[in-house]
Amino acid sequence: MELGPGVPTPPIELAGGATDATAETHASRVTVSDSLAERLAATGAVVERGHDVLAESGRDWWPLAMTWATAGRTPALASALVRPTDAAQVSEVLAICNEERVPVTPSAGRSGVLGGSVPLFGGVQLDLCSLAGLRSVDDESLIVDVGAGTFGDHFENELRESHALTCGHWPQSMTLSTVGGWLACRGAGQFSTRYGKIEDMVVGLDVVLADGTAITTGGAPRQATGPDLNQLFVGSEGTLGVITSARLRVHPAPESTAQAAWSFSSFGDGLDFCRRVLRQGATPAVLRLYDGVESDRNYHLGTERAVVIAMDEGNPRIVETMLAVARDQAHDRDGTPAEPLEEEVVEHWLAKRNDVSQLEPLIQGGLIVDTMEVAGPWSVLPHAYASAVEAMTAVPGCLAASAHASHSYSDGACLYFTFAGKPEHDTVESKAALHRSIWAAGQGATLAAGCAVSHHHGIGLQRGAWLREAMGPAHAVLGHIKDSLDPNGILNPAKLGLGSDFGSSDLPR
Ligand SMILES: Cc1cc2nc3c(=O)[nH]c(=O)nc-3n(C[C@H](O)[C@H](O)[C@H](O)COP(=O)(O)OP(=O)(O)OC[C@H]3O[C@@H](n4cnc5c(N)ncnc54)[C@H](O)[C@@H]3O)c2cc1C
Repeated sequence: MELGPGVPTPPIELAGGATDATAETHASRVTVSDSLAERLAATGAVVERGHDVLAESGRDWWPLAMTWATAGRTPALASALVRPTDAAQVSEVLAICNEERVPVTPSAGRSGVLGGSVPLFGGVQLDLCSLAGLRSVDDESLIVDVGAGTFGDHFENELRESHALTCGHWPQSMTLSTVGGWLACRGAGQFSTRYGKIEDMVVGLDVVLADGTAITTGGAPRQATGPDLNQLFVGSEGTLGVITSARLRVHPAPESTAQAAWSFSSFGDGLDFCRRVLRQGATPAVLRLYDGVESDRNYHLGTERAVVIAMDEGNPRIVETMLAVARDQAHDRDGTPAEPLEEEVVEHWLAKRNDVSQLEPLIQGGLIVDTMEVAGPWSVLPHAYASAVEAMTAVPGCLAASAHASHSYSDGACLYFTFAGKPEHDTVESKAALHRSIWAAGQGATLAAGCAVSHHHGIGLQRGAWLREAMGPAHAVLGHIKDSLDPNGILNPAKLGLGSDFGSSDLPR
C-alpha cells in the first residue's frame, strides 16, 4: 500500500512545453532573491526555482487555464516552489515570508477548477503534498488523524485495507485531490447524502497562521466553546491559514450495497422525487438526477426522460430500508409511476464516476467546456434550473447547457451545470470571452433565483466578483477576519474576492 506523498496530475499538456510557457497574468510578480531562497531552504523544505517547474505549478484544473495551455500559457508564475515535509517547516516558511512580505499560495493536488491555487503575484507557491500520511486511528471513536497533503485514493485505500474503515468522501477527483484541498474548498463527495460534506466530517484541525503560529482547533464530538474555529478555516481556500493535518470522522467499511434507477417524466418530477425521499428521513448515499440532455448523453434513453440513480451502502437493514423508502416515492408529481431501469444504469455510473479524461480532448478540439455547481432550497430549484439553462443556451456560441442534481439534503440540493461552446473566431481571447459570457449567464440566473454561488467547488479566482455580489456587506466581515489573521495579506492574495496590496487580478472572471 502506498501512503507516501502523491503528486499533482497535470490537466492538459502545455503547448510548446513547460520550459517556454509564458504567464497569462500581467499582475506584478514578487521575486524570491537568492538569499531568501537560501533562508527558505535552511528550514529543511525543498525549494525549486526552475521555469518548467513553476510553469506547471502555476496552474490547476481551471478549464479556462486549460484553454490558455493550448496556446502555451500558464495563469501565473511563482518565483519559488517550496515543499515542506512537516508542520514545523510550514511555520518557519510562513514566518520568513511574512517578515519579507512575500505572497504565499498554498497548493496541493492542484485539482481546483477555479484558479484557487494560482500564484497570482508570484512569490512562494507552498506545495503541501509531502504532508502526507495517516497519523493515528481511533477505531473506537471512529476518528482518524491524517496529513493534509494525503491524496484521496491513498487515504481511502489505507483506511479500507489496514483498518476496515471508510471516510465516505468520494469526490470525482479522488485521485487528483488531497484531504487539505477538500477542507480548504469545502468539498463534497459523491456519497454526501449519507456521509455529509467535508465540513460535516471534520472534528479538528492543525493550522499554521500567516505569521507562523501553529494552532489546533476543535477536537470534541460537539462543543459549546464559542464560535467553531474549524469552520473558519474550512472553505477558506488558503487565505486564512495553512491546514497541516485534520481529525476526520470515519465509518466502518460498508457491509452491503443496494441500488436502483428510474426514469421520470421531467427534471421537475425527478427533483420532486428526491425531495420527497429526503423528507421521509431517508439518506441514501447517492441520489442523482439527470435532466433529459444528460440522461440521453449517459444512458441513451432519449431527451424526454429524466433518470435518477439511487445507491446506498452500510448496514444491510438500513440499506434495505433506504431503498424501500425510495421505491415508495418513485412516481411523478401526478402519481404516474416512474419507470424502473436496469441496475446496469447504476453500474455504468459506478464504473465511470472517477473518470476525468473527458475534458482534455474537447478543449484540444477547440471547444470551451466547464461545469458550474450551485445549491439552493427545493422551492427554488425548478426555476433556477430552467432559467440558468435558458440563459446559458441563449448566449451566441453556446452549443449545449445541461444539469444534474448531484447531492440532496432535506432542505435542498446541488444543481451541477455543464456547458460547452465554440466562438465564431478560433482564438484563445474569443474562447475566454465566450466562457465568461456563458458563466455570467448561468451564475447570474441561479443567484437571481436564490441559489448560493457554489456548493462544493468554491470560489478561487473565477468567482471572486460573484461572491462579493452575493454576500453584499457580509463580504466586508470576511475582509476584517482576513486582515486580523493575516495583516500583511501574504496568504493566497486576491482569492475569495478579497482585495490585496500586491495588486488586483487581471485574469478573466
Ligand atoms: C475532474 C474533476 C472532478 C472534481 N470533482 C469534485 C467533486 O466531486 N467534489 C469536489 O468537492 N470537488 C471536485 N473537484 C474540485 C477539486 O478536486 C476540489 O476542489 C479539491 O478539494 C481540491 O483539492 P486539491 O488538493 O487539488 O487542492 P488545490 O487545487 O491544490 O487547492 C485548492 C485550494 O485550496 C487551497 N489549499 C489546498 N491545500 C490547502 C491546505 N492544506 N491548507 C490551506 N489551503 C489549502 C489552495 O490554496 C487553493 O485555494 C473536481 C475537480 C476535477 C478536476
